[in-house]
Amino acid sequence: VPLVTMLSLIIPAFNEEENLPKLHERLTAASDLWKMPFEVILIDDGSTDKTLHMLRELHQKDQRFKYLSFSRNFGHQTAISAGLCYAAGDVVAILDADLQDPPEELPRFLDKWREGYQVIYGVRRKRKEHLLKRMSYFLFYRLMAWMSSIEIPLDAGDFCIMDRVVVDHLNQLPERNRFVRGLRSWVGYRQIGIPYERHS
Ligand code: UDP
Ligand code: MG
Repeated sequence: VPLVTMLSLIIPAFNEEENLPKLHERLTAASDLWKMPFEVILIDDGSTDKTLHMLRELHQKDQRFKYLSFSRNFGHQTAISAGLCYAAGDVVAILDADLQDPPEELPRFLDKWREGYQVIYGVRRKRKEHLLKRMSYFLFYRLMAWMSSIEIPLDAGDFCIMDRVVVDHLNQLPERNRFVRGLRSWVGYRQIGIPYERHS
C-alpha cells in the first residue's frame, strides 16, 4: 500500500440536476470519515437537463470534483466503465448519484480494504420499495445467477470499492457491452460482501 493513498469515487449521472447539490454536500461531509485525499469523477451520460452545466460549475468551485461528458446517453454501465478508465485512485468506489448508496458507508468498506480485501461490494439488506418491485429484483438476481456460468453474488449492486489492481484488470478486458458487477465477480481476487441498507 502506497504511503499516501487516494480514493476515487465514480458516479454516473443521467438527468440528476435535482440530486447534485445534495450529493456534493453529502460527499464533502462524508469525506471527513474516509480520511484520505479523494477525487470524484462524475460521468454525465448524455443528460438533457442542467446536469452537465452543474458539473462544470462544481468543478470550478471544487477541483476535487471532475467530470466526463458523453455525446449521448450510453447507459449506466458504460458510464461506470468510462469512470474506471479515468480513475487515478489506489482504491476506487462506485456510487449512484441519487444517494441510494450512502457514501457514509464507505469507511466500513475501506476498513476491509485495509485488511487486504480487493473487492468490497455492498449487499442490499432491506428494500424499501413496493412488494412488486422487490419481487422483480428477487427474481432478477436469482434468474441471473441461474443463467450465468460464473457466480454473481445475490442482491449485490454496483456499489463497491475496488483495489487499483482489480480496476487495472477490468480496464484491460476487451468487452464493450459491459455488465460491470458480472465482470467484477469474474476477475476473481479477494472479494467480500458487506450488508447495507439501500435508500429509496
Ligand atoms: N444512470 C446513467 N445512465 C442512464 C441511467 C442511469 O448514468 O441511462 C445513472 C443514474 O444517474 C444513477 C445511476 O445510474 O446515478 C443509477 O440509476 P437509477 O437511480 O435510475 O437506477 P436504480 O436506482 O433503479 O438502480
Ligand atoms: Mg436510483
